[in-house]
Amino acid sequence: MNADQRVVVVGAGPYGLATAAHLKARHVPFRVFGQPMDGWRSHMPGRMYLKSSPFSSSISAVVPGRRLEDFRAEEGRAPGGERDPVPLEEFVRYGLWFQQRTVPELEQVTVRRIDARPGGGFRVLLDDGEEFAGTAVVLAVGVVRFAHVPPELAPLTRDGLVSHTADHVDFGRFAGQDVAVVGAGQSALESAALLYEEGARPTLLARAATLAFGSPPRTDSPADRPLRERVRAPSALLGNGWPLVACSRAPAAYRHLPDRVRDRLLHTVLGPYGAWWLRERVDGRFPVRCGVRVVAAEPDGRGGVRLLLDAADGQAAELRADHVIAGTGYRVDLGRLDLLSPELRRRVVTAGGAPRLSAGFESSVPGLYFTGLAAAPTFGPLLRFVSGTGFAARRISAAATRQA
Ligand SMILES: Cc1cc2nc3c(=O)[nH]c(=O)nc-3n(C[C@H](O)[C@H](O)[C@H](O)COP(=O)(O)OP(=O)(O)OC[C@H]3O[C@@H](n4cnc5c(N)ncnc54)[C@H](O)[C@@H]3O)c2cc1C
Repeated sequence: MNADQRVVVVGAGPYGLATAAHLKARHVPFRVFGQPMDGWRSHMPGRMYLKSSPFSSSISAVVPGRRLEDFRAEEGRAPGGERDPVPLEEFVRYGLWFQQRTVPELEQVTVRRIDARPGGGFRVLLDDGEEFAGTAVVLAVGVVRFAHVPPELAPLTRDGLVSHTADHVDFGRFAGQDVAVVGAGQSALESAALLYEEGARPTLLARAATLAFGSPPRTDSPADRPLRERVRAPSALLGNGWPLVACSRAPAAYRHLPDRVRDRLLHTVLGPYGAWWLRERVDGRFPVRCGVRVVAAEPDGRGGVRLLLDAADGQAAELRADHVIAGTGYRVDLGRLDLLSPELRRRVVTAGGAPRLSAGFESSVPGLYFTGLAAAPTFGPLLRFVSGTGFAARRISAAATRQA
């Protein structure tokens, strides 16, 4: 096999690292690029906790001894249970530990450009100027570039009056300020709680009629749940209940559902709601306005923002804030992947902005694979979480082995 016949993995978060680990186990030559765990280190609040339990927060490796509980054991700590949310800082340390042990060949360089080569394969240009060829490319570039700010708010991002939750690691700079947080999912709720705890005056604006939170687990291990409960709502990687069992265990079948059904399930299964442990940090702590929609936003001439709100009861209202944070999630949009040449982007067949993928995560361009959030519209909600790394990495490494 010559040097051109190798797989290029772009991204060093859980999905890129798991892909590299599985390729390595199959002896497929690869190069992997990116800053390890950068999505978690540079685009999430440092004082955040994971919403997923320790039981479903391990990065997949083929070799044994790489689970979150193995990392904890090595630090001399107990494995942790459903009732112990994982601090972000610990998960980042686990990810770096995983990378150093499993994928030490990671190259901490950014991939600037990927072009198609005449006759097949790809030409890859790195930020340090190196250019080389590969037979296949796996894009594991994460969620940050898909951060979604609603069009009513987007123009004010240029003035620094509006930002996305992904722009913040530390909310300390908002102490003493009025901050409107838009959204009702985990990111919006946790950002508002952290803003309040760090001395800001948040107001949460949610379209939903009420806020939703998960129920506190009654046992530390899913296996210890009473039998009747386990039959009614079995445990799975994504949580408890038959719909979550189906999405956790059958992502391959999800791909065969009609587009309309997949789209609806992706937005309704598991969203938007806050983790059970957030409720007491939200309820009664700061103003929450449910059933409202932001219809317009403009600078107020005093360095802040005036928001025009439309309430479910038809009443219009105004709110002034020093700053607005959009906790409005992420939307896959191939048009934002500017590291792919325009020609490659044109050749990728999409549905609703996301690439259409084969059972092996390959797009309509032979040898071009997408994993992580970009694959969620095809394989369902499992791919939005770390617990999907095993399914994705097994399939991609098997397909790439056939290609190499
Ligand atoms: C606030 C928040 C909380 C979350 N909480 C949870 C949770 O509790 N549990 C859970 O399972 N999931 C959670 N998620 C989802 C989580 O982000 C994904 O499960 C996971 O990070 C996806 O991994 P990834 O490898 O696809 O992306 P990321 O972790 O985002 O990694 C992307 C990687 O790509 C690299 N990269 C990007 N562009 C380039 C380039 N051009 N060249 C080289 N490298 C590049 C980056 O450096 C980085 O290494 C959360 C997401 C958010 C936003």
